[in-house]
Amino acid sequence: MTSARRCALCYGFDGDLTRKKGQIAHIDQDRTNADESNLVYLCLEHHDEYDSRTSQVKGISEAEVRTYKTRLLDAIAASEHWHSPRQESVAGAKADAIRGHDERLFREANDLMPEGDLLHLVDQLQSDDSYFMSQAHRLDKFRSFFSETGNQFIDPDVSGKLQALLESLDSLLLFLATHFFVFPESQNYPEDLRLCMYPRLNVDRDGDGTSESMQRYDNFQAQLDIAAKAVRNAYKEYRLVVKHYLYL
Ligand SMILES: [Zn+2]
Repeated sequence: MTSARRCALCYGFDGDLTRKKGQIAHIDQDRTNADESNLVYLCLEHHDEYDSRTSQVKGISEAEVRTYKTRLLDAIAASEHWHSPRQESVAGAKADAIRGHDERLFREANDLMPEGDLLHLVDQLQSDDSYFMSQAHRLDKFRSFFSETGNQFIDPDVSGKLQALLESLDSLLLFLATHFFVFPESQNYPEDLRLCMYPRLNVDRDGDGTSESMQRYDNFQAQLDIAAKAVRNAYKEYRLVVKHYLYL
């Protein structure tokens, strides 16, 4: 038998080339006639149907079965069963599972640091040179979430854009940790402290207003601007590839 577990009647009636649980049936229903030409592989359902027919009931004829068997063997010989809808749907199911995994990952990370909050932080850094401790914590959680086991995107495009984003976040967080200080020193909500970039160089804060201080401040401001822009751009690209691939 070369029917590769495909049922001759499933194929004959429906063009169904998917693999089925089944049995070898005797076309003439004579169990002693085991000649190859008298054997056909049928799925369990069609096997029952074919076996239970009586001469009084107009069921599936021997001639039909032989015709479908021949057609099926031709299709198998032409490897048509390798491209059956079932196998395409298996590949589709696998792609869906990967997409489901990546989608869950995106959503979990997005809960830690939603797009709006991240962009708001970047705006605030660029316009006010300040942030709150809680914002940096969330950004850091978002970043470390992706270093946990199993929290890696499977899709290579999303994964690549995420890597670029994480690198830009590393730089920004390092900058924030190095060049920002609690300001003002006494705050109304000490549980969420506000930090500012070099308040003693900033004439609007504690700065002395000398040109040297202002020059140094401008220099740091330019560095902050570069780090913030890098995050904004990397996030935009990450978000775009997620949208394209996960439709989110
Ligand atoms: Zn069948």
